[in-house]
Order: sequence, then C-alpha cells, then structure tokens
Amino acid sequence: MTERQHDLVIIGAGPGGYVAAIRAAQLGLDTACVEREPRLGGTCLRVGCVPSKVLLESSEQYHELHGGNLAARGIKTEAVSLDLPAMLARKDKLVGELTDGVAGLFKKNKVTRYEGTGRLDGAGKVAVAGKDAALLSAKHVLIATGSVPASLPGIEIDGEVIGDSTTALSYAEVPRHLVVIGAGYIGLELGSVWRRLGAEVTVVEYLDRILPGTDLEIAREALKLFKRQGMQFVLKARVTGARRQEGDGKTGAVVEIEGRDPLAADRVLVAVGRKPHTDGLGLASLGIALDERGRIPVNEHFETTAAGVYAIGDVIDGPMLAHKAEEEGIACVERIVTGWGHVDRGTIPGVCYTDPEIAGVGRTEEQLSEDGTPFRKGVFFFRANSRARALERIDGRVKILAHAQTDRILGVHMIGPRAGDLIAEAVTAMSFGASSEDLARVCHAHPTLSEAVKEAALAVAGRALHA
Ligand code: NAD
Repeated sequence: MTERQHDLVIIGAGPGGYVAAIRAAQLGLDTACVEREPRLGGTCLRVGCVPSKVLLESSEQYHELHGGNLAARGIKTEAVSLDLPAMLARKDKLVGELTDGVAGLFKKNKVTRYEGTGRLDGAGKVAVAGKDAALLSAKHVLIATGSVPASLPGIEIDGEVIGDSTTALSYAEVPRHLVVIGAGYIGLELGSVWRRLGAEVTVVEYLDRILPGTDLEIAREALKLFKRQGMQFVLKARVTGARRQEGDGKTGAVVEIEGRDPLAADRVLVAVGRKPHTDGLGLASLGIALDERGRIPVNEHFETTAAGVYAIGDVIDGPMLAHKAEEEGIACVERIVTGWGHVDRGTIPGVCYTDPEIAGVGRTEEQLSEDGTPFRKGVFFFRANSRARALERIDGRVKILAHAQTDRILGVHMIGPRAGDLIAEAVTAMSFGASSEDLARVCHAHPTLSEAVKEAALAVAGRALHA
C-alpha cells in the first residue's frame, strides 16, 4: 500500500474539514484531506444546507407567483405551473458547481485529496480504504466527520416512503400528505418546501412547542405564522413508530403516536435530530472514548485525549451547524501553527430558513430568567418598518436583550424577512461587547430592514422612534 507523509491529515471534507484544510495550507502546512464521498463539501453542500436552500428559494418564488398576493402589488400572473423535475435538476446542478468549487480550492491551495474512508490506525497514522487507498502518517490528525441523521426505534426507514432529509430533497412528485416527525430546523424547512409546492403537511412534535432552544416568544410567533401558511401541528405527541402500508394500489405509510390515532401519510420525513458520525473511525486504537451522547470529548483547543489528534464540528459538543464547524476548524489549525486560536461559543448564530426566517444569537429570554440575570428587553415589529411594508413582508419582530445594569447585549432574536442576514449585525455587535446604546447610535440606511434592529436597540431604553 502507498505510504505518504503529511504535516496534517484531516478526515472529512464538510464545511469544518475543507475550510480547516484551506486555512492550514494558507499557513504553510502540508495538508491532506480524506473524504469518502466523490464530491467534497460534506452534508452541508451535498445533501443539507445548500440543496435545501435552493428548494426553499424556488418554492418561495413559486408560492409567491401561485398563491401570493401579487395582484395587490399591480402584478398579474397567469397560468403559473410547477416543473418539479426542472426545480430538482437546478438544485443538483448548483450542488455540482459548488462541490467542484471546493475541489478547485483544494487544487489552488495545494491540499492533497484522498478519496476513501479514513480510519485512525495508531499514533500519527491514518489508513485510507477505497479509491485512493494509502497509509498516511502525520504529526497532526483532525477529525471532522460530522453527523448522520438520527432515527427512533419503531421507525422503519426505507429511504423512499419513510426517509430522512436526504430523501425529502428529491421526492419525484409532490406528496399529497407529508407527515414530518420533529419540529426542529429540518422538519420546518423541508416541511415548508413541500407545503409551498402543494402538499398537505402535518408536523408531529414531542414537545409542547416548536424549535427547541429558540427564544420562546419568537418560536410562538413562528408557530402562529406556519399555521397560517396551512401547516398542521400535533404538539405534545410522541411518535412511537412508522411503517410502510400498501393499500388502494398505492404505497403510503402509517405513523403511530402515543395515546392518539395513527396518521396516514404518502411520505414521512424523519427529522428528530442528528448524531455524531464516529463509526469505523478507529478511535479505540488510540484509546479515545466517546461521551454519553456519542461525541468525541475535546478540550478548549480541540485536542482529544490522544496526543496530536483533534476533533471539530458535529462530532464534538455544541450546536450542529456548518458555520460553527468552520470556526472551530480554523481556530484548531491556527493554534497548531501559531499557538493561538479561539472560538467565541457565545456568539454563534442560529438561522432557520423558513418564511419568515428565524434567527438568534446569545442567550434567550428563558435562559436569562433561569440564571436570574437582570435584563431589559427591546422589541420592534417589522410591520412598523417602511421597507418591510414595501416588500409586503410585515410579519415578525426583532428582540434585543441587554443587561439591566451594564446594557451589554446578551441576546438578539428575530423572526422576519431576511432575519438570517440581519442577525450578522447583532453577532458583530456582541462579538465586540457592544451595549444596546452602541447599536442604537449606529447610523442605519433608510429605508432598510436593518432599521428594525436599530429600533429594537432603541426600544431597550424605551425610546423606539416608530413604535
Ligand atoms: P432538531 O434537534 O433541531 O429537532 C428534532 C425535533 O424532533 C425536536 O423538536 C424533538 O423534540 C423532536 N422529536 C424527537 N423525538 C421525537 C418523537 N419520538 N416524536 C416526535 N418528535 C420528536 O433536529 P433536526 O431538525 O433533525 O436537525 C438536526 C440538526 O441539523 C440540528 O442540530 C440542526 O441544528 C441542524 N440543522 C440546522 C439547519 C440550519 O442551521 N438552518 C438546518 C437543518 C439542520
């Protein structure tokens, strides 16, 4: 078998691994990246963030033209129809372009790519099985293998009628009735896509609320708006099973719920979370033990218990988000080379790309109340923002939570048009330790959606101008 030596070997080319590889190469390390899929970019680029956003944008445009209130804006539409194969083909084309783009970046930065499955094989060794089989040696090994969809006992996933997010990105036709299990990011984003394309969508959620972890005031508003869009919700409902069912010459599924009548569906999307992907990694060869949730334990420098082996992203603790993995990958390799690298865990934003978008950073109101932290709250509604009115996107609000004594911003939460982009300002402000007054004194262009953020900051001191 080919034996090769590198400074750093990264296992996994998702947003965590491929970005770390580019940064390490920029810093002068001879870097290799092992990826078992032919396409680089990981779950995010291949079957996650990117293809789901393509479908979210396309389905939103379709819904707007088909069922939106365009006539009131002086736009008449006729005979709008759906070409689902073309919509799906465009998604696949874009995924191809972006994953090719990562391969191009590897070439440009002289990152060596191995196509195959990487496994730790004792100290400083990674065995690659597959197309580019090799035994690699390196002073540093970085595990960035991400996560895989979780399931539940009793759910018989067949990858067709009952499937996960990957299946739901490619349904060949719009399901008549889609049952979504789990009201988290995946369930709500992909449920929205198929609802807009015409499916009846029922979301079954174990908790008494949607979007666990999101600020409750925002999640409640989201639930109200999703219901208005025609999505149905069954809350406080534990799914105990799902199986295929044949009948009337067609294949469907039945979803069993504890203490309630079962639901019949044409398709079932299982979106009950993801779990760290560590199978077959050879962690035991280096004495690395997983924690109680199957994650690889690391210290603040992303070092595992084995010398020279690091882990970042979905395989370690923290939110399973592409941008969190990217920041960790960069910090990890910067520390290896420069002796310093840092990620501020308190300022990692979360965005749910529904319509309207939902975004947040920092502490929620519930967390502050639980901690007993004294805070002041400023809320501004998009309906009082002139740009939102021009866009006819008036649903939603921006909420800023600041420390009652110091005025330091502790959390910002919003639901509304382009909230996923608007949150960046809040993240920047919090990263620099800004107070709500700092944000309120910044000049925001008029008329823009960003003025809602400034107004919410003014509202913390009870002096919003347009409320
Ligand atoms: P999630 O953890 O966000 O939500 C899963 C939901 O399933 C929870 O609300 C949970 O209460 C519910 N659930 C669990 N067991 C159940 C049962 N038996 N019956 C009914 N409901 C049940 O998970 P997800 O939506 O699958 O997403 C997985 C991961 O991917 C998350 O970490 C998420 O952050 C990430 N993700 C992020 C984005 C984004 O950033 N926009 C998009 C997609 C996925």
